[in-house]
Amino acid sequence: MTLLPVCPELHAALTAVQSAAQLCQTVRRDRQATALRKPDQSPVTVADYGAQALIAAHLGETFPTDPLVGEEDASLLAADVLAQITDYVQLQRSQVSPETVAAWIQRGKGQPGDRFWTLDPIDGTKGYVRGDQYAIALALIVEGQVEVAAIAAPALDGPDGALFAAVRGQGAWQIQGDRVIALQVSDRQATAALRLESVEREHGHPAWQDAIATRAGLVTPARAVDSLVKYALIARGEADLYLRLVNPESDRRENIWDHAAGVLLLQEAGGCVSDQTGRSLDFGAGSKLFNNQGIAASNAACHAAVLAALRAQTPLLELV
Ligand code: AMP
Ligand code: MG
Repeated sequence: MTLLPVCPELHAALTAVQSAAQLCQTVRRDRQATALRKPDQSPVTVADYGAQALIAAHLGETFPTDPLVGEEDASLLAADVLAQITDYVQLQRSQVSPETVAAWIQRGKGQPGDRFWTLDPIDGTKGYVRGDQYAIALALIVEGQVEVAAIAAPALDGPDGALFAAVRGQGAWQIQGDRVIALQVSDRQATAALRLESVEREHGHPAWQDAIATRAGLVTPARAVDSLVKYALIARGEADLYLRLVNPESDRRENIWDHAAGVLLLQEAGGCVSDQTGRSLDFGAGSKLFNNQGIAASNAACHAAVLAALRAQTPLLELV
């Protein structure tokens, strides 16, 4: 029987993401998963805020000195939206006031340091609103290394959803009730590899991704999946490659919370993650992956072929 390691951070993270997953599913069942707009026009819902509030509250109680670097910011929340968020948080934290809920959300606006947590309360908000895949992703980063990961994927594997965990050097697991299943990537080579990419075409460079996959010998078209559920599917051997390429001319950099937990899960399952130039990801550069561009995540067996294709074919003019 596989057991999870004795690791207080992992257990706190798993409890936190599970409580957030419960809130997100309740909001979706109530048909309240509608998109509001953030100042940058990206979508957000009451569940994004509610999930960040619950996780920040739990980490504040268990690891009060650890900063939390989360995606959401409560400072511009309208009173009616805060009231709705509070109603959902109260289902798990009875009597909590809107002011406390706002303070919990703001606790998630910490700064990266030697040791901190990073959180995407809903990764794949567009998928969440659409009724597709999404994830609640929490990771502990110590001296630039992802040490612990907890991921809830409430829309994966049936009504109870899926729960994933990883600890650096100790493994990656899926937890199904009392059962703990160790995750292991496939050994499929590039010619048999199954590829994933974002549902949102502007989140990557689909034409270049297709060209690289073809050059590396992949034959099947990419399957589109929202959120860092993509990392989990590769970690458990259901898929083998995830490309998220960005035009080398672009100054766009990925947010750490969109990748940290998925990267550790996949690495601990035997997979390989680099940026599009083959460099390993640097989680010690701040709230974004400032020292990297694009993502190539794989089962390891097809990684060299993909990097060789990337070296041979940076975007051709007609693809950009
Ligand atoms: P995915 O479903 O894999 O595309 O991941 C969703 C995440 O993509 C969101 O949480 C956003 O932080 C991120 N995102 C939003 N806009 C972009 C963009 N233009 N390029 C890359 N990623 C983005
Ligand atoms: Mg995200």
